[in-house]
Amino acid sequence: MKAAVYYAPGDIRVEDRPEPEPAGNNLLAEVLCCAICGTDLKLATIGNPRCHPPRIIGHELIARITHVGSQVGGFAVGERVTLATTVACGDCAYCDLGLGNMCPNAMPISYDFDGGFAEFLAIPPAAIAGGNVITVPDLVLDQFAALSEPLSCAINALELAGFKAGDSMVVLGGGPLGALHAELAKAVGASKVMVVQRSEPRLSLLRRLKDVIVIDGSEDVEALVKAETRGLGADVVVMSAPTREAHESSIRLARKGGAVSLFASLPSGASQITLDSRVVHYGELRVVGASDSRPEHVAKAVKLMESGKIDLSAVITHKVALADIHEGLALMKNKQSLKVLVYPRGSGS
Ligand SMILES: [Zn+2]
Ligand SMILES: [Zn+2]
Repeated sequence: MKAAVYYAPGDIRVEDRPEPEPAGNNLLAEVLCCAICGTDLKLATIGNPRCHPPRIIGHELIARITHVGSQVGGFAVGERVTLATTVACGDCAYCDLGLGNMCPNAMPISYDFDGGFAEFLAIPPAAIAGGNVITVPDLVLDQFAALSEPLSCAINALELAGFKAGDSMVVLGGGPLGALHAELAKAVGASKVMVVQRSEPRLSLLRRLKDVIVIDGSEDVEALVKAETRGLGADVVVMSAPTREAHESSIRLARKGGAVSLFASLPSGASQITLDSRVVHYGELRVVGASDSRPEHVAKAVKLMESGKIDLSAVITHKVALADIHEGLALMKNKQSLKVLVYPRGSGS
């Protein structure tokens, strides 16, 4: 079968690989579609020591089950499934706390197990036992179901930030995850959603999102956000841009009593930021981190899609065949896309 395999930083090859083997304790599935994540782009550029090469990458996927091991219950051939990426150990203090995404022994799909940029995928016993395999109802189209995992990360982040219906939100950074945050906030019942982005063509891509105020980051962002929020600032500010400058300015966009979600990670070795304590202290701001998601969040993402309350069509800007994955990675790298979907058996439709 054809697969995209990570060998070393910047070295991803589309090549023939043996199809995964059926076993009594695993599931096999035919990958229908797999979206490119920022972490895939990172492997394609600077690499990541957590990914063990040679490894088939890709984790934002929808797949149809073709084999159910005799020891596996709860799944049937023909069902479509998506995955929560982080396979937690289930046996440590963080797993006991219900924080599997913080598990120090976690084995992510596409780092420790082969992922979805391939025609077929083996779903390992640990992922089945960990509840990482989420069934997708017929109503949800492949292209949207493939975004369950990134949407689940936004769900985790907005839950941690305490975002609720009627709240306003501003996202700094209008990449794929910024756009997903915007669509999620609308689905939750946001009173106002703003996205700040500096460069074209992403500014134009973001203008495809309905009922979202797109702010050009080269303008006076603080003044524009305050003008939209009765002079207060937003209830929730989401940091979805990996720059120090944006992080440091984020607290000035939140209203007093509001929250700032540090969703994007800054590069290792360049992650120290300065926050004005007086703004946080006198404003009773909550600055919260958010990283990854757990199976429960992926299940919520799928349910939200099934409800029809969220429409991700404007977030998907490109579809490519697996053979052309480097084109898709280049689109992401050059910020010419929002989400790019990869189809192992063709260019999709
Ligand atoms: Zn991802
Ligand atoms: Zn654990």
